[in-house]
Amino acid sequence: MNAAIDWRAEASRLTIRNQAFIGGKFVDAASGETFDCVSPVDGTLLVRIAAGDGRDIDLAVAAARTAFEDGRWNGQPPKARWRVLVRLAELIQKNANELALLETLDMGKPIANARNGDCRAVVECVRWYGEAIDKIYDEIAPTAKTALALITREPLGVVGAVVPWNFPLLMAAWKFAPALAAGNSVVLKPAEQSPLTALRVAELAAEAGIPPGVFNVVPGFGETAGQALGRHLDVDALAFTGSTEVGKLFLKYSGESNMKIVSLECGGKTPNIVFADAPDLDAAAKGAADGIFYNSGQVCDAASRLLVEDKIHDAFLSKVAALAKTYQPGDPLNEKTQLGAMVDAVQTKRVLDFIERGKDEGAELALGGRQVRQETGGFYIEPTIFDAVQNRMTIAREEIFGPVLSTIVFKTPEEAVKIANDSQYGLEANLWTNDLTKAHKIARALRVGTVTINTRDGGGIEVPFGGYKQSGIGRDKSLHALEKYTEMKTTWLDLS
Ligand code: NAP
Ligand code: MG
Repeated sequence: MNAAIDWRAEASRLTIRNQAFIGGKFVDAASGETFDCVSPVDGTLLVRIAAGDGRDIDLAVAAARTAFEDGRWNGQPPKARWRVLVRLAELIQKNANELALLETLDMGKPIANARNGDCRAVVECVRWYGEAIDKIYDEIAPTAKTALALITREPLGVVGAVVPWNFPLLMAAWKFAPALAAGNSVVLKPAEQSPLTALRVAELAAEAGIPPGVFNVVPGFGETAGQALGRHLDVDALAFTGSTEVGKLFLKYSGESNMKIVSLECGGKTPNIVFADAPDLDAAAKGAADGIFYNSGQVCDAASRLLVEDKIHDAFLSKVAALAKTYQPGDPLNEKTQLGAMVDAVQTKRVLDFIERGKDEGAELALGGRQVRQETGGFYIEPTIFDAVQNRMTIAREEIFGPVLSTIVFKTPEEAVKIANDSQYGLEANLWTNDLTKAHKIARALRVGTVTINTRDGGGIEVPFGGYKQSGIGRDKSLHALEKYTEMKTTWLDLS
């Protein structure tokens, strides 16, 4: 990143797209209504956004269906789709500073993270699915010589995607990149708190050569636009990332409409299990701090439960607390800032309420716990650490989605596994130990979609990501994600 960028000056020069993108054009909402897009950096109004509802979803789905039926995208050879998606990845890369700035202004994450974390990962995702799509072969079944059975994968048609605000563009890319690569048309509804980057990328997609109607973005509210997409009779699949509560609604919408395929990436309560025999306790402490304070803890796999072996409890917690102090909330537009704003006033209050609940239920507040920087007009919470947490307490059971760590002590590996698995969620777990046999035994016993050992890094786009239990259904990332956006067909030919 160019250290000389004056991000505030750049912000004053931005042109922000604020209309829905349907059928290859920016349009107002059919109702003419808009909603305010407020920056959590300082509470200012950035722009008014078209408030799409059921009528706009109908228009977008119709455009997507027409584009699918006439084959303007799925009728192109995979190599042609490859070229367009790789061009889109290049355009995102070229416009990464603008996209990062939109993301930071819209939802408050530090600009360095938006630029070097989110934008890079989006470019990698779009390029990866683009490059993959002309390298995947179908199958022939092992039948008798008297028959030929082809097993082929075909695009579904119209895919709806509904995504959250914590990694707005990246969560959208995890859906639209594989869905488009497979040949589908897409209707995306971004979160009301963070529609800006999706709208800009829709425009870049058109510039890259995605034909009109193939990629549509309808900003609006969950209860209206989101629900309309979930219940639409002409949508073949709905890919959702967000809370477990809303994820369940999409299963209901599907059951009450056309039984569309629903895939869900929902909440988590990641246990980060630190044994006394960890190879490097400083690295483990850094993993614990980064794991809960990155993106202000607004991360589905945030390491929100720190399970620490009793004999290293005091020493380890002081290391984590020392690192936490380096995560003081600051101006998200300053490249040195590590902890930015919470997404909005509602989420800030929700997190502060959880902190009060933790104190009421008897956990010990070891660090932080307060709202800060109110003078900016934005929404900021200090890095917060609770000690002496019991796994039955609310702060250990519910997803807080804020910079709040709950520390729980254990004595044996069996006890650690029991506590780790005692959760409605099963997205991820982290382990720190030098004993590989122990690590593998525990990894097998954990009911989660990803286990990381001696690192918090669970890999890039090449590995699947998603949850067991109420963390979701299906996987994003990797070639496995394509399973969600294709149907499998058997074609049987009698050769006798
Ligand atoms: P959310 O409230 O569930 O919202 C997610 C999306 O669903 C938004 O676009 C939202 O629209 C829409 N929505 C809300 N209510 C709806 C309804 N009644 N019908 C249809 N759609 C509706 O989640 P969030 O607060 O934005 O995001 C945080 C959550 O996302 C956390 O639980 C986090 O764990 C999860 N997440 C999971 C993953 C993963 O990969 N597992 C990754 C990132 C985040 P509005 O914006 O209008 O509310
Ligand atoms: Mg929301």
